[in-house]
Amino acid sequence: MATTATGGSADAAPRVSVLGLGAMGSAIARTFVERGYRTTVWNRNAAKSAPLVDAGASAAATAAEAAEAGPLVVVCLLDGAAVDAVLGSVEGSVAGRVLVNLTSGSPAQARAYAEWAAERGAGYIDGKIMGDPPYVGTPNVMFSFSGSRGAFEAHESALKELGTIAYHGTDAGAAAVEFMAQVAVGYELLIGFLHTLRLVHAEGVDVQEFTGRVAASMAGYPPLLASMGKAVKTGEYGPDLGSLNVQAALMDDMIAHRESLGVEAVRMREVKKLMDRRIADGHGGQGFSSLFELLPPRG
Ligand code: NDP
Repeated sequence: MATTATGGSADAAPRVSVLGLGAMGSAIARTFVERGYRTTVWNRNAAKSAPLVDAGASAAATAAEAAEAGPLVVVCLLDGAAVDAVLGSVEGSVAGRVLVNLTSGSPAQARAYAEWAAERGAGYIDGKIMGDPPYVGTPNVMFSFSGSRGAFEAHESALKELGTIAYHGTDAGAAAVEFMAQVAVGYELLIGFLHTLRLVHAEGVDVQEFTGRVAASMAGYPPLLASMGKAVKTGEYGPDLGSLNVQAALMDDMIAHRESLGVEAVRMREVKKLMDRRIADGHGGQGFSSLFELLPPRG
């Protein structure tokens, strides 16, 4: 009798189908194969199935055939347009199955796919990935899930094979909300960091050495973020980073320094404007987190 990588009977091994074999879908399919899952794969360009078939997967001729192969159907495609195209070709094959869509996209798309699946008798879990394909199957990739709780619990052990997982609730859009917000924090932080490297570079400071010092000072941020989160949630704004009265006094110098070097100062000017408004409203004793009160949408 054939055996799986984990030593069990291949016939008893759980089945999973993976639709989409780009860099990420291939890493996902390979992880399932290596963990002993009977894995059926499909890709628009069929040539991408070959290395997975060599590793032990079965290739389906069509997306519909792949979807019919087992109870768990993982979809990992480029974008919403690709998902729309592929779902259109499997709509007669998904009843009674659970779709796990790991394609990056918006909360609204996720909610629409959940509705689409429910109308066809399928369970739907939306998933969003933070991490790189080579690390799939290790704790270094974060998978956020949301959607049907029953479907998630039924397939949790399979999903855990892929990395660190978190379930964000029954709203199918919740994983995308988490993903969009986490990615936004990264981009907003990192574009500010790059502008500051311009400033450091313009002053003739070694940017790599400066980056090392910034990395060390980042250790102070987790407690600050925690206290800001609490302040925003409760509306009780202590003087985090100092009082706004003191912080605002520094801002004109920071803006002038950047402008003297030709470095972008648009965000600093926005911060100063918000501080001035908050101070004018009589809140100069509060801290940086209190600027939240002025950011749209309010209420
Ligand atoms: P790739 O570009 O490597 O693969 C894209 C996949 O989508 C291929 O399988 C491609 O098929 C398929 N595809 C594109 N358009 C269509 C279509 N119209 N119909 C059918 N299939 C289509 O992307 P990745 O695998 O890297 O990314 C997949 C998803 O994972 C994306 O949403 C991405 O944001 C997300 N992700 C990726 C990460 C990464 O580091 N790679 C990290 C985190 C998330 P074909 O081979 O035939 O072109």
